Amino acid sequence: MTRRVLLASRNAKKLTELRRILADAGVAGLEIVGLDDVPEYPEAPETGATFEENALAKARDGARATRLPCIADDSGIAVDALNGMPGVLSARWAGRHGDDAANNTLLLAQLSDTPDERRGASFVSACALVIPAGAEIVVRGEWPGTLAREPQGDGGFGYDPLFHPDGGQLSAAQLTPAEKDGASHRGRALAQLLPALAALAG
Ligand code: IMP
Repeated sequence: MTRRVLLASRNAKKLTELRRILADAGVAGLEIVGLDDVPEYPEAPETGATFEENALAKARDGARATRLPCIADDSGIAVDALNGMPGVLSARWAGRHGDDAANNTLLLAQLSDTPDERRGASFVSACALVIPAGAEIVVRGEWPGTLAREPQGDGGFGYDPLFHPDGGQLSAAQLTPAEKDGASHRGRALAQLLPALAALAG
């Protein structure tokens, strides 16, 4: 028998990524469904001060509303020269939610005088798993790198064209989806949930 688990997202790429991570780890018996597969419920705005708070609030909402085990993530980029900002404000750094081009232009302008040796940044993802019976787990994955001076590559989304992961020459927007998922903050966080998900699968 398969057990349904909600991933509190409408992003088809995130659903595919989690299904692939489970399959690669040999975890069978879970059916990952997204927000479009369950009756609509009110989603609280993301007002937390940390990625962990936001992920946990989203997972609690999903588990309460659907009575399914629920996974939720919150992510963004933490820039050393900005003391960890944009952080939880990454999606709306330029003032409007999800305007990737404006966010990237603003971030580059803010760092225009920052020398190469101080352009460190990390993508961060917090993932929460909440089980209606009461158990809660929150994990964090980080992907360290540096910020370029101009966008490179046209894959990915968000800050990917500016972000060069440590240990390579390419921007995150120049990696294949499989390469990115294998190294990324979200992949690293989700991997830490595998033991709990395997236990759910029975
Ligand atoms: P969300 O938590 O997936 O909604 O992401 C929040 C924001 O963080 C996005 O709008 C992007 O600006 C940024 N972000 C998160 N993950 C990534 C990534 O893998 N690549 C590029 N930008 C990201």
